[in-house]
Amino acid sequence: MSVTTPDGTPRTAIVTVDDDPGVSRAVARDLRRRYGEQHRIVRAESGDSALDALRQMKLRGDQVAVILADYRMPQMNGIEFLERAMDIYPGAKRVLLTAYADTDAAINAINVVDLDHYLLKPWDPPEEKLYPVVDGLLEAWLATDHRRVPETKIVGHRWSARSSEVREFLARNQVPYRWYASDEPEGERLLEAAQADGRRLPVVITPDGEALVEPSDSELASRVGLATTPSKDFYDLIVIGGGPAGLGAAVYGASEGLRTVLVERTATGGQAGQSSRIENYLGFPDGVSGAQLTDRARRQAAKFGAEVLTTRDVTGLEVNGSARSVRFADGSSIDAHTVILATGVSYRRLAAPGLDDMTGRGVYYGSALTEAAACKEHDVYIVGGANSAGQAAVYLARGAKSVTILVRGSSLERSMSYYLVEQIRNIPNISVRTCTEVTGCAGDDHLECLTLRDTSTGETEQVNAQWLFLFIGAAPLTDWLDGVVERDPLGFVIAGPDLSVEGQPPRGWALDRAPYHLETSVPGVFVAGDARAESAKRVASAVGEGAMAVMLVHRYLEKL
Ligand SMILES: Cc1cc2nc3c(=O)[nH]c(=O)nc-3n(C[C@H](O)[C@H](O)[C@H](O)COP(=O)(O)OP(=O)(O)OC[C@H]3O[C@@H](n4cnc5c(N)ncnc54)[C@H](O)[C@@H]3O)c2cc1C
Repeated sequence: MSVTTPDGTPRTAIVTVDDDPGVSRAVARDLRRRYGEQHRIVRAESGDSALDALRQMKLRGDQVAVILADYRMPQMNGIEFLERAMDIYPGAKRVLLTAYADTDAAINAINVVDLDHYLLKPWDPPEEKLYPVVDGLLEAWLATDHRRVPETKIVGHRWSARSSEVREFLARNQVPYRWYASDEPEGERLLEAAQADGRRLPVVITPDGEALVEPSDSELASRVGLATTPSKDFYDLIVIGGGPAGLGAAVYGASEGLRTVLVERTATGGQAGQSSRIENYLGFPDGVSGAQLTDRARRQAAKFGAEVLTTRDVTGLEVNGSARSVRFADGSSIDAHTVILATGVSYRRLAAPGLDDMTGRGVYYGSALTEAAACKEHDVYIVGGANSAGQAAVYLARGAKSVTILVRGSSLERSMSYYLVEQIRNIPNISVRTCTEVTGCAGDDHLECLTLRDTSTGETEQVNAQWLFLFIGAAPLTDWLDGVVERDPLGFVIAGPDLSVEGQPPRGWALDRAPYHLETSVPGVFVAGDARAESAKRVASAVGEGAMAVMLVHRYLEKL
């Protein structure tokens, strides 16, 4: 196996440990002569330092094919060392180097550490005594499946809310990862390599081998290569929110020469990023997943030179003369001539007893995509009657035993697109329960049952359930704009003609022109997409408004 690192170093290693520096060097020299081109030869002079090297290699995702250990070493003898090395690399072939007098110990080691070979010192000439042994072991090792895992690795507890959030965060940011349950052997090995006791989970191991214990989103973002810090203090345009409206604005803004930065709280894509298949977006007759659309839009924005910052929560907007200042949760801020608010909406939480406790442990808001694999062959419940709930049902039905959509109203047709209602009707393992609401849930580690109430009769019933996904409408989270821009009673931002009351401009409006179509009550601050009052709540209209807001930004800048 000749997998190499970017600098050309082989990633499959042969490790040798001997406390006598002269012997250690000699073994490594002989190994390097024959195997150095295809394998990395790692040499250590104590059991402890060899274990450290093995841990680091494990975190980096390197492979170890053969470990050769001297038997007589102080502090930790070769058998003790190999026993601990097995916890990290159980598949590596194990060789004990012994003097003739220690043959009995070597034979005992065959049972203790499942030794593959013991080699008597001296091993000269290596062509006769060393290489045939190592050749055979390498061949045996290669015959088994030893693929490297180059991606980010997450070791977490199956039912921990934070472990689930971290998976969701990486998935939505298109960062490939591999998941390991902390109580499975490989998860335990990775924790051992990271010297983590497993009490604080998840542990995230980056592709270059750094172990992050219970990382925050921003820590995670910066370590997996996502930008989190602005490169300038002043921009032409700050776009707040990285959903379709924000990405659309960033693409048009940057492609038309505006110094543009997009600031996103969690992951680009917004609600659309969580959609398994958008079937009604122009130009995609076979549908497109939210993740694909987001990935393309994000690359397109970057290609035109827009900066895209993730894990930055905007908590304030101020007017300072002609500058518009946007403040982040950490107190820092950036300025620009103009701002586009594209903050969309967020799922409402369902206030039923027990649900908050079970969130991330069987109860999820959105996130059907990340959890789909875990629902295989299980009974799944979905709450919601809009398209988002319908798409999730169609997607989850591919693996789940059954999917039940719970709707408060008397029919799906009133709230879901016709094409989805038809699809659902034709999928045998999806059923729809109308006039039903969730009034409670219970479980120990994980969701076990739901209480359902029939809204027409008032009767309640308990059903066994391990999975509940909620898509129950959404609210704009715009409290931080209170007192700055005009909002309607639900918090949606009012713009353009909707701001005029009886032909009069909004309160405090000092310009001798009326607000432009998507302009808010603050000149130079625009709104696009779902966050706007009376918006269409569709991907296409959000993208279109993002583009249109940029056109109005140009008009505003011309008159500045
Ligand atoms: C599962 C699902 C399926 C859907 N399917 C379809 C479909 O098939 N067809 C269709 O047309 N529509 C569909 N929709 C609706 C569509 O996705 C939305 O209308 C669209 O995403 C709105 O885009 P937006 O950019 O305005 O807002 P959003 O997509 O809500 O994006 C807003 C972004 O702003 C960020 N943000 C919010 N506040 C802040 C802040 N203070 N600081 C920084 N960032 C912030 C959020 O994190 C979010 O990423 C679906 C929605 C869902 C949830």
